[in-house]
Amino acid sequence: MQGFIINIRKVKDEDLIVSILAQEKVYTLYRFYGARHSILNIGYKIDFEVDATLKSSMGRLKDVMQLGFSWMGDFEKMYNWQRFIKLFYIHLKEVEHLDSFYFELLNKLITKITKQNPKRAMLEAYIDILEHEGRLHTEHICLLCEQKIEENISLVRGFLPTHPKCSYSKGFDSNHIEELFNEKSAINLNDEEVDYLWDIILQGL
Ligand SMILES: [Zn+2]
Repeated sequence: MQGFIINIRKVKDEDLIVSILAQEKVYTLYRFYGARHSILNIGYKIDFEVDATLKSSMGRLKDVMQLGFSWMGDFEKMYNWQRFIKLFYIHLKEVEHLDSFYFELLNKLITKITKQNPKRAMLEAYIDILEHEGRLHTEHICLLCEQKIEENISLVRGFLPTHPKCSYSKGFDSNHIEELFNEKSAINLNDEEVDYLWDIILQGL
C-alpha cells in the first residue's frame, strides 16, 4: 500500500519506529536496521508492506519502495513540506480509523506544489482540513469578545477569527480572508501575509 512518512523515531542502534499516513489509518511500524535498506525521511511517499508476525504488538515495516516526486530536490519546498507533514502526526496519532481525505489531500498537494508556492498551496489545503473537520469559522464573530468583526480581521490558532485589538495580532482585509475561507484561494494575500498565516499553522493543525 502507499503512505506518507509523518514521523520517525530512532530506537536502539539504527532501528526506527516509523509512522505512516495511509488511506485508512496511521501505521506505526518497526523497522530493523539493514545496510541495504533505502534511507527513510519525513515527508517521503512510500509503497510498503506490513509484516504482522512480530511477537510484539507493533508490526514490522517491510518491502519499502520510495515513490519520488519532481520537487524532492528543491530544498525549500522539501523543508516546508516536512514541517507541514509533521503536524499530521500530532494531529492524527490518536485517531483509530481515518477516511481517505488526508491521504488524498497530501497526494493533491504534491501535484500542486510542482507549480505553486508551497506555503500558499499548504495554506489553501489547511482550509480544506478545517472545513472537512467542521472547524472552519466563516462567520466573522470574534472568539474573544463575541462581537461582530466589521473591519479588519485577525486569525489565531485554528484560524479562529478575532478583532486585531482583542488578540493583539495582525489585521487582515476581511474580504481577503473571506475569499480564502470560501474559495480556498490565497491569491489576494501578499507573501508577508502568507508567511504570517503559515506561522499560525505551524503552531498545530
Ligand atoms: Zn473582539
